[in-house]
Amino acid sequence: MKTTRGDFPQEINLHLISYLEMLQRKGIKSIYLTPPGAVHEATAEQKQLSGDQERSVAKETMGGIVEKLSEVDAKVSVCEDCGLHRGRTNTVFGTGNPGTKVMFIGEGPGRDEDIQGKPFVGRSGQLLTKMLGAIDLSREDVYITNIVKCRPPDNRDPQEEEVRCCEKYLIAQIDLIRPRIICALGRVAAHWLLDTKDSLAALRNRENFYRGTQVLVTYHPAALLRNPGLKRGAWEDFKQLTAIISE
Ligand code: SF4
Repeated sequence: MKTTRGDFPQEINLHLISYLEMLQRKGIKSIYLTPPGAVHEATAEQKQLSGDQERSVAKETMGGIVEKLSEVDAKVSVCEDCGLHRGRTNTVFGTGNPGTKVMFIGEGPGRDEDIQGKPFVGRSGQLLTKMLGAIDLSREDVYITNIVKCRPPDNRDPQEEEVRCCEKYLIAQIDLIRPRIICALGRVAAHWLLDTKDSLAALRNRENFYRGTQVLVTYHPAALLRNPGLKRGAWEDFKQLTAIISE
């Protein structure tokens, strides 16, 4: 039996020699060492397998999230837990990418949203789409929803009882999507999410959290349409958002 001592420390060499001599005494004439290349190939294969498994798990997980979101959406579509169901044409659950890092939350559907059953599709929605484009995002990259899923009459603010009734659906959406950050669009959404009456200016300039998820507060697109002078501030907020989701 031939051995190559190589650069092993002397103590290990002695143990190795004694082990090989013991094998020799037992009649073992040769042992097979795995060529280094084979070890590399096996590792690469394992890595490939592990990558495929990870992708498959991610795909399954995403499939599960989409399915669970559909189940919540189905419950919302027949929900009569608060008085807002009486005036709705359609419920407005939410749209976008369930694997996103950023979830936009407005206060509630308006007239266009109620008719189409989709969030932010009127003039405000068009502006939101443009603002997303300015930071190289599309609506398909993010998830967009509202605090309440049915239109408050005459576009009034949602009331406490309505928000409390509907919050379970928003919580389910957030728990399933688990965004890196929530972007609260406007004073009403920010106040309900953060349980505060602080000014929008104060909320825009501090770190906020909703059930452990960071919340960045910015203007509602409707406010930007009414007062274009606010757009500079909104642009600063969106730059901050980009920095956070690029981390
Ligand atoms: S607003 Fe929410 S809680 Fe109220 S009826 Fe619609 S889905 Fe149900």
